[in-house]
Amino acid sequence: MKDRENFKDSIIKILKADWGKGLEQAEIHEKYHSLSKAIMERITDDWNKTQQEYGKGKQAYYFSAEFLMGRALGNNLMNLGIYEEVKEVLEEMGMDFNLLEEAEEDAGLGNGGLGRLAACFLDSCATMNLPVTGYGIRYRYGLFKQKFVDGFQVEEGDHWMKYGDPWSVRRNEDEITVEFSDGKVKAVPYDMPIIGYGTGNVNRLRLWQAEPVQEFDFGLFNEQRYDEAVKEKNRAEDISRVLYPNDSKKDGKILRLKQQYFFVSASLQDLVKKFKEKHGKDFEQFPQYHAIQLNDTHPVVAIPELMRILIDQEGIDWDRAWEIAVHTFAYTNHTILAEALEQWHSRLYKKLLPRIYQIIQQIDKEFVATLKEKGYPSSKIKAMRILSDNRIKMAWLAIHGSHTTNGVAELHTEILKHQELKDWYELYPHRFQNKTNGITPRRWLALCNPELAAMITELLGTKDWITDLAKLKELEKYLDDKAILERFLDIKVQKKKQLAFYIEKHEGIVINPESIFDIQIKRLHEYKRQLLNGFHILDLYFRIKENPDMDILPRTFIFGAKAAPGYFRAKAIIKFIHEIADLVNHDPDIKDKIKVVFVQNYRVSYAEKLFPAADVSEQISTAGKEASGTGNMKFMLNGTPTLGTYDGANVEIVEEAGEENNFIFGARVEELEAIKDSYDPKVYYEKVPGLKRVVDTLIDGTFNDGGTGMFRELYQALLEGASWHKPDHYFVLKDFEEYRKAHEKIDEAYRDRLGWARKCMKNLANAGKFSTDRTIGEYARQIWHIEPRKIK
Ligand SMILES: *Cc1c(COP(=O)(O)O)cnc(C)c1O
Repeated sequence: MKDRENFKDSIIKILKADWGKGLEQAEIHEKYHSLSKAIMERITDDWNKTQQEYGKGKQAYYFSAEFLMGRALGNNLMNLGIYEEVKEVLEEMGMDFNLLEEAEEDAGLGNGGLGRLAACFLDSCATMNLPVTGYGIRYRYGLFKQKFVDGFQVEEGDHWMKYGDPWSVRRNEDEITVEFSDGKVKAVPYDMPIIGYGTGNVNRLRLWQAEPVQEFDFGLFNEQRYDEAVKEKNRAEDISRVLYPNDSKKDGKILRLKQQYFFVSASLQDLVKKFKEKHGKDFEQFPQYHAIQLNDTHPVVAIPELMRILIDQEGIDWDRAWEIAVHTFAYTNHTILAEALEQWHSRLYKKLLPRIYQIIQQIDKEFVATLKEKGYPSSKIKAMRILSDNRIKMAWLAIHGSHTTNGVAELHTEILKHQELKDWYELYPHRFQNKTNGITPRRWLALCNPELAAMITELLGTKDWITDLAKLKELEKYLDDKAILERFLDIKVQKKKQLAFYIEKHEGIVINPESIFDIQIKRLHEYKRQLLNGFHILDLYFRIKENPDMDILPRTFIFGAKAAPGYFRAKAIIKFIHEIADLVNHDPDIKDKIKVVFVQNYRVSYAEKLFPAADVSEQISTAGKEASGTGNMKFMLNGTPTLGTYDGANVEIVEEAGEENNFIFGARVEELEAIKDSYDPKVYYEKVPGLKRVVDTLIDGTFNDGGTGMFRELYQALLEGASWHKPDHYFVLKDFEEYRKAHEKIDEAYRDRLGWARKCMKNLANAGKFSTDRTIGEYARQIWHIEPRKIK
């Protein structure tokens, strides 16, 4: 930075212009805001230049209902290469940079892995100079904020832009009208810069905000009918008011359908408008300039919407429009949980989007005709129809209406091809690809663990690994270097102390940085099996009570998870773990050998503090249920061994880092597939020593669920099942014993300090595959067919 004094002036000026204050009077969020705006000022020219350059060729567009961005300030400064310098400048001005960073609210415009993946992808695209734009919704309220009261989850609205949103620019000139059967709304874009690391390129995330066509009805207002005068305004604004806090559970809300169509229609209209300005009406060329990636089924209404625009507005015939659509779209499948495969009632579509519904009917009709021609039996046709039983099958529409369908980890893609989407794979074998997920090494190592990053840079003699993560492999030459292993352990302790400090401040619980930090952080879901973790902790507790001299290393079990507000069982599991924590943490017999902490409001910025401090990464989902996982990769990149099942990307993590450096346990997909009809959890409940004792705490009065009956319901789900599932359908009891053994192995392995550090380093050195730079390179070459365009 050549112009430090200018930069200071710029901050002061913005503070005065926007907040009418000098530095002395300004609140912390006002200082944060002014600093952020000063950065925006600096990148504007490069941002415009990048967009212009990208306009020259084919571009890709990432359509996603979620972008879990987290905080921008620190990341942007780092990617611009001015982090340290700005810190100095601020300190010269008497500001504490750390406080400014903490003043930023997370942009929590996503639920979990799927939304965070979108955010990591954008970072990689910009860093790799790839012409990719994100399209989504500017939710006024992001994912709810979580608190615990008496161990129960309590949700609060997340008004993340309460103090403004310095990282967005409103573009009135690009507003679009979106039509529903019950009226029109305005879609106004807010653009966020996505700053590449170590390049001048700045990409764009365009988020649509819903607004009324008319602010208020003047006539009604004049008649003093104030509520009615703003009714339309409220109805319109409802569309982008709040992110649905569902994670892989379907939800039949009309508003959700409105959200989906709203952002998809606005985005496509935006693209078509720009295309016509450049290429006139030569729509045959549309796929040569646009690749649109549909992130899960949420934006799949884009397929009939593009058909509508081409046919109704541009006068193109059906067959050509279909060709164009199929060549434009690609679809990513993120889940195989049956309840998460999105379907819509036909009547909802018919009512809200009648023309789109007609188009879907036509697509279905032609598809059925094609299958008949191919000689498909009627049972199979029924199973594959896009419209059947008055339901629209969004995943089927996505596969049929796009050129590529991809899974998100090798195991996941294999399950799709040979089980869940078997019929589709047989119909369209060439359309299926795998794209194993990743994470951006910028946020998930360089930014969140500068201590470890500095050591890596020193050892490799270059920072190149930050954009070429495979280079970490060279760290293998230090695997037997005692001094380096010690340094790794020192850094780990440092990160654990930082986390302990933060947890004490925010959760009011003191934890011991010398203990093993065993961490499970992810959305709360039965298939992710936080309950299995809880049962194991309880078993350990009972064993220590029986044998107070039991030789175990001190352990701190840390959880972080939000439960969807309507997901009763997930909330029961949160309460149950709190009850365990209460019992364990306050029992003097335990002598702090085990401690349990459930951190509140797990989100990206908290995650950045947790991953670097972990000794053990809990990835214990039922085999076959976690499509990929990305949390598992964040742990690995911070040198943490995985305690996990053969599921999702765990399989590939172990393939890269070696099974001997991780702790793999539990039934595999094939085994579960083979036994699923005959599985009887009671056998395990009766026979596995200690298991009955922990399961029974759900009903024997050990714990208090506040009279909700939620613990008994969990107990019944395990041993009796429910109307919609068999007993213990996630095989918690089946895997318990092997899980406990894996924990014992960890206790044993951890005692050999250097041996443990070697495992950690081995994981770190082999994390290269899990960079989103690798993932995005594959999307760019094998799906989007786009090339980098660097501006300088
Ligand atoms: C990475 C991440 C996730 C995804 O975690 P999984 O363990 O892969 O489910 C969810 N939430 C946040 C805040 C994350 O950073």
